[in-house]
Amino acid sequence: MSKAPARLSVLFVTSELAPLIKTGGLADVSAALPVALAAAGAEVRLLVPGYPAVMEGVRAKSRVASFPALGDMPASQLLAGKHSSGVPMLIVDCPALYGRTGGPYQDASGVDWPDNALRFGLLCYLAAVLASGRSPLPLRPQILHCNDWQSGLAPAYLHFFPGERPRSLLTIHNLAYQGIFPAETVSRLGLPAAAYSPEGVEFYGRMSFLKAGLHYADHLTTVSPTYAAEIQTAEFGFGLEGLLSRRRSHLTGILNGVDVDAWDPETDPYIARYYGVNRLPAKQENKRALQERMGLSVDLDLPLFGVISRFTPQKGLDLVLACARELIAAPAQLAVLGTGDRDLQEAFQQLAKALPGKVAVQIGYDEGLAHQIEAGADLFLMPSRFEPCGLNQMYSQRYGTPPVAHAVGGLADTVVDYSAATLAERSATGFLFQPATAEALQGAITRAVGVWEDTKAFRLIQKAGMARDFSWDASAERYMELYRTMLAS
Ligand code: ADP
Repeated sequence: MSKAPARLSVLFVTSELAPLIKTGGLADVSAALPVALAAAGAEVRLLVPGYPAVMEGVRAKSRVASFPALGDMPASQLLAGKHSSGVPMLIVDCPALYGRTGGPYQDASGVDWPDNALRFGLLCYLAAVLASGRSPLPLRPQILHCNDWQSGLAPAYLHFFPGERPRSLLTIHNLAYQGIFPAETVSRLGLPAAAYSPEGVEFYGRMSFLKAGLHYADHLTTVSPTYAAEIQTAEFGFGLEGLLSRRRSHLTGILNGVDVDAWDPETDPYIARYYGVNRLPAKQENKRALQERMGLSVDLDLPLFGVISRFTPQKGLDLVLACARELIAAPAQLAVLGTGDRDLQEAFQQLAKALPGKVAVQIGYDEGLAHQIEAGADLFLMPSRFEPCGLNQMYSQRYGTPPVAHAVGGLADTVVDYSAATLAERSATGFLFQPATAEALQGAITRAVGVWEDTKAFRLIQKAGMARDFSWDASAERYMELYRTMLAS
């Protein structure tokens, strides 16, 4: 009898993991992708730092290994446990580096932890050890999957270990954060001096975790095909475009999925009335509820635009501010939820004050209201200047709320722009514009309102969006194919 083929084994290294510790999309990816990979046949283990939220949130843990100090990184223990999804976890227990209250990267006042190089250096070092012949555990991953700068140094450590190595992959979720530290950090992290070279971890006179990963990892991915191309240009490359362009034959864009159970208008517990592709008129009840909740005048005959966003320059919200009065004159309404930059918060609050009943703004993070805006708005605005993947434009398509989005990154890859041709072939799912200017956004808003008034055409766009498959299963299949290609090469 032939033996069943061994499952492809993956060590997935991450600095964030929902629901335990989250600052952005990486936490959601780290929670969802390993589950989908396991369903697709992989054997996945997570490796995460033992922040208090992880130590408290993962109940049953057992100690499986101990490691001595290296450079300036203290001794640590490795604990084994399970994520709430059932995926096995390895946790780096090092109270001197992780046992503190605050965020994963910053203290409570928003200042970077001064020892971040050691905190994430240790994560990278142990990832490399566990993936190599030096591992004290029987587990031998075939793929070491790293994410963003916080695990970017693992392929560098691996490079300097003699003997057999797994294949390494680094996924870029956001190139804007790079983990750059003084040159002398190299020896504090126990890396050989030879690593500090332009053909290594050096980046303009300092060391860079991300650059190290981009150089040493066998393969690179980012979270959409268009972003993969964009980061090879000076406009989007944050100084790394040369290296990324040289490595382009080892750089793949794979779209993130979304949580299709949490974001489903047929079962969403946050919304006033369930609806689906065959019960679209029921969506109006959610529009009425949203207008009431946010203090907009209740009027189902006006198109209602929604925004849910972090308030940062990346998200292009200054363009929304610049267009707001014209949008209201369309006539239309605007509902905004977000938090972040002070100036943007104040500008939106002033706008709401000046246009009561027409513009409503809520400052803060509110999961329930985010679902209600997706369900209650007619159209969704996403004018991001750059967008590695983006989630809200996928949610809004699932909710029959066509996005009006800047044609960049993941937005360009997930929204099919309306035209007579795309409508005729039933593929149009939203409205794209270019470049990122107020004029271009205004043009797209005007186009969108024009189509919204044509109920039959608008329904076709809603239905095409609601039929799209944005599940993690589709995404995991792509990663599995890539892992297999990496192992075969
Ligand atoms: P990014 O990760 O760059 O912030 P994404 O579109 O990829 O942008 O994901 C943002 C996620 O955070 C979405 O799930 C969105 O609904 C959510 N979100 C952002 N701001 C808020 C807010 N103020 N309240 C509730 N959810 C928010």
